[in-house]
Amino acid sequence: MLASILDLFFPRNCPVCRNPSDRPGRYICSDCLNRVPLLPPDDNLPAAMHFEGYGRKLILDFKFRQKLFLLEDLTDFLEAAALAHYNVPSVDVVVPMPVPFWRRLSRGYNQSGLLARALARRIDRACRPDLLARRGFPRQQAMLDYEARRENVKGTFRVPARKAGYLRSRTVLLVDDIRTTGATCDEAVSVLKAAGAAKVLVLTLAQAGD
Ligand SMILES: [Zn+2]
Repeated sequence: MLASILDLFFPRNCPVCRNPSDRPGRYICSDCLNRVPLLPPDDNLPAAMHFEGYGRKLILDFKFRQKLFLLEDLTDFLEAAALAHYNVPSVDVVVPMPVPFWRRLSRGYNQSGLLARALARRIDRACRPDLLARRGFPRQQAMLDYEARRENVKGTFRVPARKAGYLRSRTVLLVDDIRTTGATCDEAVSVLKAAGAAKVLVLTLAQAGD
């Protein structure tokens, strides 16, 4: 009721076609939902969409252009991918991929952190950004292949010593926004496992390239 009254005064315009959205509480309209390049649910890659076309636009709007109102729309895609790929009730805790401290300062938020928290709320699990930390200034890796990237991110993740006990024998769902070769994710997974996590499931909003 309140939402529909609010919609009257503050119409939610679809970020793709700019028309008012016909979906309650969401911005992407039902026509444009079909224009988002979703990955098929049986795809091998644990990602919700391709990082291209409107998928790319939505994510860049969210990540760099402060369009945080897209959070629930994007979480819909992430949640559907989580249910398609994993036995969600087996997840104990949701952990976002950390961004370097200086990048969070310049942007004001960690987009993966927002997604992880929203997803955790949907699946009724704790979101624990404190379980995985990132240090240093990673070099640009846009031009690197998997092996070189893996080498590049070595040592950038750590589980704070006081937190390792919590991870022991738990199943972690690690949430990231954009996956390229998967090298960064793989490094984070091995650090979480080394700290005692029983299982680490990776879920990303979008897959770049491929
Ligand atoms: Zn639209």
